[in-house]
Amino acid sequence: MHGREAPPILPAMIVPESPVPDAWPLQPNAFTISSQYGSRDRVGGPNTKWHKGIDLSAPKGTPVYATAPGKVVFSGEQSGYGNIVILRHTEEYDTAYGHLHQRGVQAGKHVKRGALIGTVGQTGNATGPHLHYEVRRYGEAVNPAPYLPR
Ligand SMILES: [Zn+2]
Repeated sequence: MHGREAPPILPAMIVPESPVPDAWPLQPNAFTISSQYGSRDRVGGPNTKWHKGIDLSAPKGTPVYATAPGKVVFSGEQSGYGNIVILRHTEEYDTAYGHLHQRGVQAGKHVKRGALIGTVGQTGNATGPHLHYEVRRYGEAVNPAPYLPR
């Protein structure tokens, strides 16, 4: 982890102006968690792959919301992720939203916390409709759990 200390646990309180991600990207009653951040065994083989985000299973078309105010730094397709939107909140924090069905924002746009940025889909490497959500700190994916309400 390059010697950086883990961030403090954030309160389960949404501060509209704070640029630190602290919200669920889907309505709380709209999803189930289908895969956590971290190592996971691949079925049928010895390989273990590091899962860089958290997977929120939800029907195709479920609205996806920005978890903090920021700027859209990427909206397009990436290998594995399919349709993905990446937001930059501060020099420290980015969030990424993968496997989208539709992307609702273009690069360069500024968004508020809670802004609609796309819809859940199954694009890229996905076996069913879900949102792959990443929190990136200084460009590296970290466990999103401390940045999600409890
Ligand atoms: Zn995932």
